[in-house]
Amino acid sequence: MGRGSTAYRYVVLMAKPYWKWGQICRALSSSVPPIHKEDKVKRVGIKKILIANRGEIACRVMRTAQKLGVQTVAVYSDADRHAKHVHDADEAVHIGPAPASASYLNASAIVTAALETQAQAIHPGYGFLSESSQFAELCKQKGIIFMGPPSAAIQAMGDKSVAKTMMSAAGVPVVPGYHGEDQSVLLLQAEANRIGYPVLIKATQGGGGKGMRIVHSESEFSESLASAQRESQAAFGDSRVLIEKYVSQPRHIEVQIFGDKHGNVVHLNERDCSVQRRHQKIIEEAPAPHITSEFRQRIGQAAVNAAKAVGYESAGTVEFIVDTLSGDFYFMEMNTRLQVEHPVTEMVTGQDLVEWQIRVASGEVLPLQQDQIKLSGHSFEARIYAENVPKGFLPAAGLLHHYHPPAISSTVRVESGVGKGDAVSVFYDPMIAKLVVWGQDRSAALIKLHDCLTKFQISGLPTNIGFLKTLANHHAFAAGDVDTHFIERFKPDLLPVPLVKQDDAVPQETRVGAALAAAAISTTSSRSKEMGSKGFIWNSELGFRLNHEYSRILHFDWKPEAGDVPLVPLALRVTHGKLGDYTVEGHKLEKICITGKQVESDSHEYRLHVNNKSTSLSLVQFHQGGVSHVDLWEGERHHQFTVPMPQFDTSDELSGEHRSSGGQHERNQVQTPGAVIAPMAGRVVKLFADNGIKVKKGDAILVLEAMKMEHVVKAPVEGWVRGCKIEVGQQVSDNTILCHIEVGILEMN
Ligand code: ADP
Ligand code: ADP
Ligand code: MG
Repeated sequence: MGRGSTAYRYVVLMAKPYWKWGQICRALSSSVPPIHKEDKVKRVGIKKILIANRGEIACRVMRTAQKLGVQTVAVYSDADRHAKHVHDADEAVHIGPAPASASYLNASAIVTAALETQAQAIHPGYGFLSESSQFAELCKQKGIIFMGPPSAAIQAMGDKSVAKTMMSAAGVPVVPGYHGEDQSVLLLQAEANRIGYPVLIKATQGGGGKGMRIVHSESEFSESLASAQRESQAAFGDSRVLIEKYVSQPRHIEVQIFGDKHGNVVHLNERDCSVQRRHQKIIEEAPAPHITSEFRQRIGQAAVNAAKAVGYESAGTVEFIVDTLSGDFYFMEMNTRLQVEHPVTEMVTGQDLVEWQIRVASGEVLPLQQDQIKLSGHSFEARIYAENVPKGFLPAAGLLHHYHPPAISSTVRVESGVGKGDAVSVFYDPMIAKLVVWGQDRSAALIKLHDCLTKFQISGLPTNIGFLKTLANHHAFAAGDVDTHFIERFKPDLLPVPLVKQDDAVPQETRVGAALAAAAISTTSSRSKEMGSKGFIWNSELGFRLNHEYSRILHFDWKPEAGDVPLVPLALRVTHGKLGDYTVEGHKLEKICITGKQVESDSHEYRLHVNNKSTSLSLVQFHQGGVSHVDLWEGERHHQFTVPMPQFDTSDELSGEHRSSGGQHERNQVQTPGAVIAPMAGRVVKLFADNGIKVKKGDAILVLEAMKMEHVVKAPVEGWVRGCKIEVGQQVSDNTILCHIEVGILEMN
């Protein structure tokens, strides 16, 4: 049975008691998560905080501060002058240019801003300086409260070997392995043999999966070691490694812990973050599916012990790797800060963790003791990223021409630092928003997650919403059958199917989508003034003639979701009826009769009657890079079209599908075969090529870094590098032409 019967047994064994526990929880819970009950607010000692971060987390921290009557100070870079977090704060201080190294990582500028605005405390958020022990120390020296643990705890947990040694000593299970000082090759090899293959080599200073190598056999060891050491030296300036047993089918389960200045530490249950891509989480949930309350209690206690061993204070997360074959769990690392996915814990415990952080930083004891912490219902978080899923989840950047999240309620939270018209910049994390839902149990929460993803509309840049929707709908995910290889294991089900370059490959639902878009556009085209002064190309093209039948052909280029496939041209004939009705017909599309209209004159929502069936849809039109775009959401589907320049075609032929297609932007790129194009938004960290040098096809031209990953950009053809104006440290957008490889000409000289 496919993926190992032992694992399956484990799941079944664990499932039963969990469901009993689930029933108890359901019986205790009300229909709304307790966090949204309006609590009476008790005064807090700290009166003003500076938030040393940006985006959604800065906005989220400010929301709680404002609830508690605490003044807020934002900091911002040049790129964020008009950002939401700046707008939401009581005060804001400019701290430097766009690159994070000069602004959000500029410790002295941030501390100076805090002193000047008389903020008593600094909340570091996550990322940036949140896990810098030097920054925590600097705050302390300047008399500012750092809202996190003492610098010694950050330092101890920042070194994987030191952390593992301390955790073993505290009785916390660690992955069997070697994490000693002696780094001689012979000893490391002997240790690997002792542990037994497969083993994992990890950089002791590592993070983001860098300096990590799986070794399957003794013969591969020395080569993998050398490459892990090289990578680690380059990334962290330190080549030390540790070796541990490679767990072949793991789940990532982490525990939220909290400490105060009085030596109290509690845990607020666990989260499952097994579903990852590029070693990064995309969907998290609480509680973890299929675990027993006994397991929860044991892993929670281990996390509390881990925190106590380092004198922990404030919010922290202890990450464990769970071997699904044996059911054993091991300490993996501790994140000494508030975690991106903390909202799922808030939803099931009814607590506000930022409020806890502010209270603890003010010197209060923890708001609750261990036996007062409840667990109610189930919560999911989906991270919505600007990213290119078919290209291997590479980060993207761009403008949010349309941003319409689902309505928030007591069971739906949308955490975001952006809105319509904002940019997702190449300088920072491409996360656009976090969608957090709560339900009475896992299946209710999952239904809500899927529903909210369906209603989450974004256009202007590629996002992972479609992928998340498929994931939320997947039978194995619904069964809670998760491990860290989940996405890899179900790739064929989860990724959009690449299109065969054939005319009949256009799905029927896309043809119907185009027909609906054509009809919706027709209902607005007689009222072009509502589309703004520029109007949309069709809107100014033809007027509506009352009591006359006339027809015209609308052309769309369909943008299939899957990868770098050419646009597919579609042509539709729209006939305006005498009574304000439309018929739409096209190649391989039966005649559709449509009536209906925009819900309100300035809205993007439409109510149409299609062949006498009523349907709601949303339509957005915008211009970008000289190309006109049409995005349509209808039911669960999101169709994306571009519009070729108008062709005043009055013939009866609907053979337009066979003309060449492509907006200007797409076409430019296709025409330059030697162009070296950035496949993702990121920072240039290494440059191998210089103008005039000769490269072979596949040679590395440069290395781009974004979001803890490096991507090597290679020469598409053999030739000479030309027109390279890129410098190390420069940020580039995806699809930027980095340089050209000139073929041939010089060869003859
Ligand atoms: P979590 O487990 O909470 O996702 P991570 O360690 O994966 O924690 O990272 C937390 C956040 O910190 C990320 O989502 C990102 O915003 C930020 N971050 C961490 N490292 C980087 C980096 N190298 N570049 C950009 N952002 C980063
Ligand atoms: P980083 O600091 O780079 O995040 P971690 O130690 O947290 O490094 O590991 C990152 C990921 O690698 C984990 O989420 C897990 O998927 C995988 N991993 C780590 N240790 C092991 C192990 N011993 N066996 C199998 N997979 C592991
Ligand atoms: Mg980790």
